[in-house]
Amino acid sequence: MLELDRISVTYPGGVEALKPASLSIGEGEFVVLLGPSGAGKSTLLRAINGLVTATEGRIVVDGIGEVADAKTLREHRRKSAMVFQQHQLIGRLSALQNTLTGRLSYHSAWRTMLPLPRAEKEHALACLERVGLLDMALRRADQLSGGQQQRVGIARALAQDPTLMLADEPVASLDPETSRRVLGLLHRICRADGIAVIVSLHQVELAREFADRVIGISAGRVVFDGAGEALDETVLRQIYGTADPDHAPAPKPDAPPANDAAGSEATAIA
Ligand code: ADP
Repeated sequence: MLELDRISVTYPGGVEALKPASLSIGEGEFVVLLGPSGAGKSTLLRAINGLVTATEGRIVVDGIGEVADAKTLREHRRKSAMVFQQHQLIGRLSALQNTLTGRLSYHSAWRTMLPLPRAEKEHALACLERVGLLDMALRRADQLSGGQQQRVGIARALAQDPTLMLADEPVASLDPETSRRVLGLLHRICRADGIAVIVSLHQVELAREFADRVIGISAGRVVFDGAGEALDETVLRQIYGTADPDHAPAPKPDAPPANDAAGSEATAIA
């Protein structure tokens, strides 16, 4: 459903964060990106949904065609939802209001200044129910636990009715048990709905458990593309330069944060 044709990203200043990569992602596929910090995982995810402009290459999406102008980019972004590491929720808004922000791209700018129709609220409530948070719908986001906040992040993404979900280290700030539960939830929902997922992770064992396919990135280059079960020591060395990724010597260089769309769009729902 998604075709990346020699996509590359060089940031202003000359950092070649992603070397030309060609990948096909199938409908409903659960893909895990692995690689040391600074390898280019976020850059790839952001290039896919246009938060970062690819320097070269083409993105082609089923039902849209090549993402080549503002109109096709808007359509593509509407159908590709992001889940962020730090949830990117608005703390003073309820779980329901945060979930509703997933619907904003379906409405014109002026329409989003008015309360959204009842059907939209029902849809958002159904999404919260799927992540097990219906009874917390009216709770302020900043009063929820980290795991609950990330489940609201997933509900917001689901509210978008996506065909593709891009999740950038969605469980990096959660404890191991909560991480497994949140990732399991994402996996189950996407399986049930046939949503393709590309998720970057640090935990090799979670990749083994959930991934249909693992893409290993090292220094901006795709160095592995295969099944989770194939993640043996040789492959880990290819990806991390060591068979023990927990002690991989690759500190992340300081980088200015890339622009996130969620925050600016979300204010309209307040
Ligand atoms: P990962 O997600 O695997 O940790 P990133 O995609 O964040 O890796 O970063 C890849 C490389 O690009 C790193 O060298 C990082 O410092 C650099 N980088 C990331 N974002 C920017 C940016 N906005 N401007 C310049 N360099 C960046």
